[in-house]
Amino acid sequence: MKRFKLYEKEFYKKLGFKAGIEIHYQLKTEKKLFCRCPALLRRDEPDGMILRHMRPTLSELGEYDGTALMEFKTKKNIFYELYRDSICTYEMDDTPPFVLNEEALKIAIEIALLLNCEIVDEIHITRKQYLDGSIPTGFQRTATVGVEGYVELFSGKKIEISHICLEEDACREVKDEGHNIYFKTDRLSFPLIEVITKAQVESPQEAGEVVLRIGNILRATGKVRRGIGSVRQDVNISIEGGVRNEIKGVPKIGWIPYLLHSETLRQHNLLKIRDELRARGITRENLKTKSKNLNNIFQKTQNPTLKKAIEEGLDIRGICLYGFGGLLSREIEEGVFFEREFEGRVRVIACLDKKPIIFHTEQEPLPFSENEMDSLRHIFGFKKTDVVIVLWGPEEDTRTGIEEIKTRAEEATCRVPLETRQALKDMTTDFERILPGPDRMYPDTDSPPVKVSKKLIKEISKGLPEIPLNLEKKYLNLKIPKEWAYELSISPYNIYFEEFINKGIPPKIAGRLFIVEKNLIKKIDLKKYKREIEDCLFEIKDGKISWDLFRKKLKENFKFKFDEGANVEIFEKAKRILLKEPNISWEKLIAKLRDENKKRFCPYFLIKNLGEIYAKK
Ligand SMILES: [Zn+2]
Repeated sequence: MKRFKLYEKEFYKKLGFKAGIEIHYQLKTEKKLFCRCPALLRRDEPDGMILRHMRPTLSELGEYDGTALMEFKTKKNIFYELYRDSICTYEMDDTPPFVLNEEALKIAIEIALLLNCEIVDEIHITRKQYLDGSIPTGFQRTATVGVEGYVELFSGKKIEISHICLEEDACREVKDEGHNIYFKTDRLSFPLIEVITKAQVESPQEAGEVVLRIGNILRATGKVRRGIGSVRQDVNISIEGGVRNEIKGVPKIGWIPYLLHSETLRQHNLLKIRDELRARGITRENLKTKSKNLNNIFQKTQNPTLKKAIEEGLDIRGICLYGFGGLLSREIEEGVFFEREFEGRVRVIACLDKKPIIFHTEQEPLPFSENEMDSLRHIFGFKKTDVVIVLWGPEEDTRTGIEEIKTRAEEATCRVPLETRQALKDMTTDFERILPGPDRMYPDTDSPPVKVSKKLIKEISKGLPEIPLNLEKKYLNLKIPKEWAYELSISPYNIYFEEFINKGIPPKIAGRLFIVEKNLIKKIDLKKYKREIEDCLFEIKDGKISWDLFRKKLKENFKFKFDEGANVEIFEKAKRILLKEPNISWEKLIAKLRDENKKRFCPYFLIKNLGEIYAKK
């Protein structure tokens, strides 16, 4: 992963940087949000497949939504991979929703309370338009649970939260190739919490902290899922004179500052390009373009890509953007050039997604021969001040591509276009789709409102966990290292840490146990051996034993601990399996036990005890 340096916060402030963040976490519930299917992630082969197509419909105002039209233009075949036992007719839009999952609602209320929100009296389920095919209904059911909250940063600054929604998750995209897109449906309709901040974030660095603080609070509940795919962030960002663009589905918190940095540079440089076009006298109204089929020119080309296109009988088409000379090779993000703006549209909307996506007359090295350049000059009458973009593919797609290039060029003359952008691993962004219009929410006529009683809110308020930031500040007063204070504040062991220091164990010793000796402590049933460990810590305090000796002692304890209880059961089971299948491989055996005993499984114990038996065989 390429990581560049962020600029000083002042740089972004000067450009009028403003960002708002939407954070999504899957909730740890047994069932899905609107049906009674189990919330299970699947790795096995699907039982079946459904093919669907999207069609745009007129909105109530008699208009087509921009995104809907864009998705329609892509003419995608949408394939859904199905599972008999975790997908029902609800997810496939063949039956209306069941009653809202109460377990999910309670978790959502808990989170909204932790983020200082007002809880609504009545949950109203609405539909949010969702047109990329990832939800078969074309909309996502979502419900506001809390409003007008805030999250506090370390500096004491508060970032307001406009609302918190409970919603259903969409499908996972498996692959997107040409006109075919495949979705895995296992994740569909998992309950999801969405936390939306106001656009009050003033630098990429601050955005990083906001996401971290909110995430820590959510995880403190112990009721959100973790791991790849269970957390996603969308970031809205604008600078002075730019527009609010959305970077969608950022999978890792650490990416956010860098992506925002890139998008800041991009908007800044797109505005510069616009000003330059204006200075050249080019406006949306007088922008001149010309497009043409170019198969004749490239009949004898040495360019391998175009040669192949000719051989395959594909359409090669070019468009001249008059007055755009010198701009396509202009850097707009670090290592990204203005040409990517055109590529993105062609890739997504015309579905010409095999690289290279376009060629143009300012590329280095030049993809065209001198003869071909002469022919292009002849056909388009273009000069140094102009540029020609060439693309290839089925004729229908190249025509779509040319239209999109024209549209993008028009936009370049007047503004930063409204887009949803995807996060790339190199910390830059690329076009994903036209940002949906504002009228994408409407009431869900299939769902009755759900009352939220004062009694329920009161009940949930009683069991709220501590806010990690408050703990962190408290621990900082204990004169332990700064990093320890932070780590302990988000550690599942902080209750024990507090218990130990309350009993008189110095914070530095108790802290070390949960930070430095973290990996060892993980393997111990703390609840059971609290007393013994506490005694040891006192001995360390009094200089009677060293940490080395302590570690040794723990390991001894550890052994007798697992000679009983749950792990013995697993041990017995393992022995039974070995009796039945004496030739089973070690890996297979472990996989089998792990599958059956997810929660209680302790590989360390098994490897230690079973390994010996295994070695004897
Ligand atoms: Zn279902």
